Parts: sequence; structure tokens; C-alpha cells
Amino acid sequence: MQDIKSFTLEELKSEIEKLGEKPFRAKQLYQWMHQKLARSFDEMTNLPFSLREKCTREYEYTSIKEVKMQESAIDGTRKYLFELKDGSLVESVWMKYKHGNSVCISSQVGCRMGCAFCASAIGGLERSLTPSEMLDQIYAVTLLTGERVSNVVVMGTGEPLDNYDALLRFIRLLTDENGLHISQRNLTVSTCGLVPQMLKLADEQLQITLALSLHASSDEKRKELMPVANKYSIAELMEACRYYFEKTKRRITFEYSLVGGVNDRPEDAERLAELTKDLNCHVNLIPVNPIKERDFVQSKGAEIASFKNKLEKNGINVTIRREMGRDIDGACGQLRRRQKALQ
Ligand code: SAH
Repeated sequence: MQDIKSFTLEELKSEIEKLGEKPFRAKQLYQWMHQKLARSFDEMTNLPFSLREKCTREYEYTSIKEVKMQESAIDGTRKYLFELKDGSLVESVWMKYKHGNSVCISSQVGCRMGCAFCASAIGGLERSLTPSEMLDQIYAVTLLTGERVSNVVVMGTGEPLDNYDALLRFIRLLTDENGLHISQRNLTVSTCGLVPQMLKLADEQLQITLALSLHASSDEKRKELMPVANKYSIAELMEACRYYFEKTKRRITFEYSLVGGVNDRPEDAERLAELTKDLNCHVNLIPVNPIKERDFVQSKGAEIASFKNKLEKNGINVTIRREMGRDIDGACGQLRRRQKALQ
């Protein structure tokens, strides 16, 4: 059965026509799914019963179930564990900021990129998510919190550019005026640096923010932390970032997780400054979230401060990521791992 929530409005129109229904029904259906966030055809009360029945017969309607929720006592951040129809588990995080609510979603069940410090890499990739399963995380969080989501970051479990077609479709649906209509500028996609897909994404001419997980300023060090560095060099990555900026005029964000004694030395900062200083970018320093399966530790406060200082002296725009939800299973993928261990 085809997944009705992953159709664009145009595609839905031709589906509706095939069913012998009036074309205006397509928009009604679309708005029920993507604006009113209906959880089933049964909720679509102004559609004729016969149409709802036909849809139930013809299409799959995805939905996700809340399995667990942890709320931070410090900052109100909520981490949700959701179960998909096939029993797969994904995590999503809801964060409240002054400027609005943000949701961090997963793009895959597990991940095959194998980054050394990341909990999501441990079990490998189970499967990619469909566009509707990415949307459902945002829809469920909206319904559960009763609050509007204004920003979306694709920074949960998975490598979004390893699920390229579904990601693109997800972006189109999320930003569509007949859906939640979230502005492309309020959407960030984070990648470990798959160069061919980054170039392709640049050509789509979207206004989304691209975040690149760099985490090291030499190829040698990067290879220790991220297997993907064996495939693409930092020089190639920088070239791809430059191209992305030229095409979209959107400033790139570099993510750099500081791992104590590994990538936080003065020479690491100097090389990072050298790499980024003539790029229109922003560097986000993230104190690494230690996971129990690995023995990485956070950099000390003084080292983080001097790392930041070095970049700033070179005129680089830099922030230290505020740690949200420290008390609720910090690192990405941890909640999912813990649940699986219990099962
Ligand atoms: N695959 C994508 C998006 C998912 S990870 C990517 O690599 O960008 C989101 C961000 O969290 C990435 O920058 C990732 O490197 C980082 N990350 C993963 N585990 C972490 C940990 N334990 N501590 C700090 N950052 C981590």
C-alpha cells in the first residue's frame, strides 16, 4: 500500500482523481493530514464516509506512538521515544527557546556512519525513515505539547543525506503552505559530510541551513573520530561548503564537538580558524556528551574557553552550544539504546 502522508498535494490530486473523487477533496485531505494533524482517516469528519473508506482500503496511514517521555527539570526540554508501525524506535527532542519551540528529529533508525563518540552508531543502520515518519515526529510533538513548533533540526539519529530523496520530500511537505508551513529558514539539516549529496543539495537552491559536523581540523584526527573522513577529505568538504554558500547564500554552520585531550588543543583551534576564516560561516562548539560505551570525556572549561578565544581572535563567529536536557539521557541515541536493552 502506498503511504498517503508522503504524497505532495499535486500527487494527491492525481490519486484522488484515480479514485473518481472531486479534485477539491485532495486539498481537504492534505490539510487534514498536514495542518490539522489527523491521526487517522476517521478524524476527517467533513469528508464523505465513502471516501474515508476508500482511503483506508487503498493507502497506508502512518502514525507513531509515544513510548516514553523524559522532561528536564532544569530547562523543560523533553525527549520523546516513539514507536513506529513496524516496532522500530526513534527519538525526538523538544526544546523551548525564547524565540519559539524547536524539535530535533531522527532521519533513520540507527545510523551507518560509525562516528566514534555517537550512541546512534553503535547498532548500525536498521532502516531509513519515510518522509511521513519524519513529519510524524513533529506532528506528534505538536499534539503532545499543544504548542506550535517553529524550528526543526534534522540532528537526531541518522545521517539525513544518506536518506536524500526522503529528506527532500520531507522538506517540501513541511514547508508547504497547506501543511505546517514552517519556513525553510527555520529548518537545519546536519550532515557528517557526504560531499556528493552536499553538492546536490546546493543545486536544489533551498533556503535551509546546512550544518556540517566537522569535529576535527586535520584529516588524520577526523579519521580517528569519523570513518566518513576516509572517503572525503577536509579540503573537499570545504570546497562543497563554499559551493553551498555560493548557490544559496546561506551561511554554513560548523559543528565541533570538543573531546577532552583529542581535538581541543591550541593547534586544533588554530587549524580550524585557518580552515574557516574566509568562509561565511558560524562555528558551534559542543562539549562532547560522554556515552557509557566509550571513554571520551568533555574538555575542561578553561580549554573550551581558550579554544573559543582563538577562533574569535581570528574573526570567526563562534558560540558554545547551550547544553539542554543534561539530566535526561544527554547524548543522542541513548534513550533508544536503553529501551532496546530492556526489551
Ligand atoms: N548524521 C548527522 C546528524 C546527526 S548527529 C551529522 O553527523 O551531523 C547530530 C550532531 O551531534 C552531529 O554533529 C554529531 O556529530 C553530534 N554528536 C553525536 N554524538 C555526540 C556526542 N556524544 N556528543 C556530542 N555531539 C555528538
